[in-house]
Amino acid sequence: MKVQAIRVLTFEAGHRIVNHESKCATLHGHSYAVHLFCEAAQLDDLGRVIDFGVIKEKIGSWLDRHWDHTMLLWKNDPALPLIEKCPSYKPVYICEFNPTAENLARHLLENVCPTCLAEENVAIAKIRLYETPNCYVEVER
Ligand SMILES: [Zn+2]
Repeated sequence: MKVQAIRVLTFEAGHRIVNHESKCATLHGHSYAVHLFCEAAQLDDLGRVIDFGVIKEKIGSWLDRHWDHTMLLWKNDPALPLIEKCPSYKPVYICEFNPTAENLARHLLENVCPTCLAEENVAIAKIRLYETPNCYVEVER
């Protein structure tokens, strides 16, 4: 039997998709929702995959520090040098990839989650990332 605990976290961010065919090439923002599907080799002594609060503390704080209320821009985006010149409370988050929902979700699954949860007995098996209530992607290990 497979047991998964799913934690939902949200953040607000701007981005644009370089070379997009239509409106997503324009700077715009989303209220993102991240669904983190957590799995453990075995349940803990209380019968949990993990305390939901741990996911909020570890992944939620990373999202708050790095992505919430930032511009997520590809390092090759010609707009990057212009945006970086604008005064801002937080720096631009420079992505190694064009910041599509697919690439953002992959980055969370492959890099952010394993680093943030290195000391926990839990792994993220799947991420569902909503850009809008009607549009989301899933990436799975
Ligand atoms: Zn978008």
